Amino acid sequence: MLPEQIELTIGWLYPTLMSTYGDRGNVICLQKRCEWRGYTVKVLPLDQNATAANFQSIDIIVGGGAQDRQQEIVMRDLRGTKAEALREKIDNGTPGVFTCGAPQLLGHYYEPALGQRIEGLGLLDFVSVHPGTNARRCIGNLVVEVTAKQLAQELADLIGSPAYLIGFENHGGRTKLGKVEALGKVVQGLGNNGEDGTEGAFYQNAIATYSHGPLLPKNPFVADWLIQTALRQKYQSPISLTPLNDTLAQQARDLMFQRLRVKTPAITQN
Ligand code: GLN
Repeated sequence: MLPEQIELTIGWLYPTLMSTYGDRGNVICLQKRCEWRGYTVKVLPLDQNATAANFQSIDIIVGGGAQDRQQEIVMRDLRGTKAEALREKIDNGTPGVFTCGAPQLLGHYYEPALGQRIEGLGLLDFVSVHPGTNARRCIGNLVVEVTAKQLAQELADLIGSPAYLIGFENHGGRTKLGKVEALGKVVQGLGNNGEDGTEGAFYQNAIATYSHGPLLPKNPFVADWLIQTALRQKYQSPISLTPLNDTLAQQARDLMFQRLRVKTPAITQN
């Protein structure tokens, strides 16, 4: 298939309500990495004005972090046919990256420090609870070794070594996983709850993480995995991605790993 025949739609959940700590960078990263390869990309806001049909038309989903108050507004809107369309997309393997507040909404519920429990979509088997206004927020750099089986394998195939993610966390909520697989194990930082060493979750092709950064520019191979998975889903045949020059991103990663004194295996492929 020729690059100019490829078209991908990125669905961006509630851009004005959910994009704390620069999470919009995930959308820009995906968009650019598609454009640099000659694909046509559309970014579709999935907000209060969106319809269920809009949700059905997307190939990659991005959801960013949010303050508790914004999460409440979002969940009042994300109901009925829209919620069903999102559920169906994720259940059917549409790839996506959901950061911090966004995954809390995909779980069973989020209990904020103040106010009522916010019911989630219950799509991913976990619950998130803020322990109260006196509890310390989980803030700092986060390094994670990806352990979710299928993802770890596919990322290793892409980069030629086990995948380590680097990001930045800032959350009050603590997430406890049920039967869903963790995204990875914490090498540095607190992750899901600061207790059990897990970080994030992985379900079908949805990546849930506490990692801002934003995640994708700091870990461009994850952006490529999302794009590759979206292409496979949409065109039902493997399309190999043209390698891009990620030297700068790699240098930034190396520097951060050095600064945090984390030893990671070198990326051997690009
Ligand atoms: N409101 C959530 C929490 O504090 C999410 C915060 C965020 O998205 N950064 O846990």
